[in-house]
Amino acid sequence: MTTTLDAPPLDPLLDDIVRTHRPQRESGTVPTHIPSLAAVPFNRFGIAVATVSGEVFTSGDAYVPFSIQSISKVFTLAMALQREGPVSVWSRVLREPSGTAFNSLVQLEVEHGIPRNPFINAGALVVTDHLMKETQDAASALLRFLTEEAGGPGPFIDEAAALTELSNSSRNLALAHFLKDFGNLRQSAESVVENYVRQCSIMMTCEEVAKAALFLARGGIGASGTVLSRSEAKRIGSIMLTCGMYDAAGEFAYRVGLPGKSGVGGGIVVIVPGHCAICVWSPRLDAKGNSLAGSAALADLSDRTGWSVF
Ligand code: GLU
Repeated sequence: MTTTLDAPPLDPLLDDIVRTHRPQRESGTVPTHIPSLAAVPFNRFGIAVATVSGEVFTSGDAYVPFSIQSISKVFTLAMALQREGPVSVWSRVLREPSGTAFNSLVQLEVEHGIPRNPFINAGALVVTDHLMKETQDAASALLRFLTEEAGGPGPFIDEAAALTELSNSSRNLALAHFLKDFGNLRQSAESVVENYVRQCSIMMTCEEVAKAALFLARGGIGASGTVLSRSEAKRIGSIMLTCGMYDAAGEFAYRVGLPGKSGVGGGIVVIVPGHCAICVWSPRLDAKGNSLAGSAALADLSDRTGWSVF
């Protein structure tokens, strides 16, 4: 790490990041299988930085709730590791970049139902199946976890959005049925997909996501105690770096140099180990499914601050 948090001053820096990167005209895409995401104005842009010393810096639309979508996968992985331990989780999902789209079916069949990593949909379905061993309503368990880590009652499940996504979930159901056929799903395919879609439909603000992810920057220590061991927190960061940005993980590592996880709602959470967690949100996506303005803003922020794991 080449820079400390107090240089340059964060408040004016974040304001300038918002001025520079808030979209001025409509470009990029929104996912067609989640109708609720198309309704979000294209020029939304928020950023929040939560530091390990407890400060939070925000700018732009940092207090507007957005759909966290696949950012949820970081938190469900942490919960599964916390509850069942690494041996159980890692016997059913790998830790390699997929190089394919987040919802690809091809690799799963060729590789006999063992997903490449927990951050593609197939892997997240297996993680959800783990969580459902403890409670059938894994989405509500995730919501409780996020509410506790974010330190307030803000996060909620957009049940209407979840229902519309569920009615467009043929591909996720196909993945779940493949997993089931290969013996890598305990619950029914339908119940796992329903839970998974509700997890993805959790609404949070940038400020809440940054605070909820802080345990990963703080060696596993969360809002009210240990979430994971230091080693497990480090390992989640490693998987974010190699697998967190769909099939653009290499490009994101090149541009930003930090572990990140994006969601098709336009959010990206990034960890600066030992220093802070950052969440940026802007809804329009590039061809790989990552926030266009969000990725550019994080590359800019990391260049201007020197925050990087390299
Ligand atoms: N709910 C979305 C899906 O399963 C999440 C995708 C994402 O954010 O990567 O298609």
